[in-house]
Amino acid sequence: MMTTKMMRGAAEGAGTVLCCHLDPQDRVQAVGGAWDMAARLNGGEGAFAEEVLGRPIWAFVSGDETRSYLNALFFWCRSRGGTFRTRYQYDTAALRRRCVMEISPLRSGLLKVESRLAGVGPPAPRDAPPVAPGGEIRRCSICLRAAAGEAWRPCGHPAPGGPPVRYVVCGACRADAADALREADMRLAVLDAGGGAGGGAGRGDDRRAGGGAGG
Ligand SMILES: [Zn+2]
Repeated sequence: MMTTKMMRGAAEGAGTVLCCHLDPQDRVQAVGGAWDMAARLNGGEGAFAEEVLGRPIWAFVSGDETRSYLNALFFWCRSRGGTFRTRYQYDTAALRRRCVMEISPLRSGLLKVESRLAGVGPPAPRDAPPVAPGGEIRRCSICLRAAAGEAWRPCGHPAPGGPPVRYVVCGACRADAADALREADMRLAVLDAGGGAGGGAGRGDDRRAGGGAGG
């Protein structure tokens, strides 16, 4: 998802996991997994561990809409104590790559954000993304489709030096996330109504995972 190069860099090898912890102010507190390897594969664009530590995650997310989308998910995870999981695309010219990002609360407002490659497929269509009337390309950070008007369609990567690209979140991906949050809320409500049997059923465990969204 995310146009964060950090998260996207996760996806070179099947099962690659990239992980970071965010402090309550959304600063990167720790990174783990194949972080540096991913950065290297990704051209190292500001994503090596030592370069991201202590910096706000928002410095690595492109587009106000995408930041707002993620911020809402972070807020939900912290306030509800639930885990949210979503799918997103991270394609290269050669492969379509489906990734999964999971956001889960830790103690004291900390969040864990993990990204892993879930599958690869044939290349994305090579059609140039449509240019919107304002002269920019609107591309969804989650599904990587682009739209000039209301119709979102799969497309190839925007050409370097071409029209500016604005990363947004399309209506379908927003709806998917909203549905997943609703489902997760219902599961949390059921668990809460269960009186916390066992006492130690910590918030953020797998039973509370939000459903997949995006696609
Ligand atoms: Zn989308």
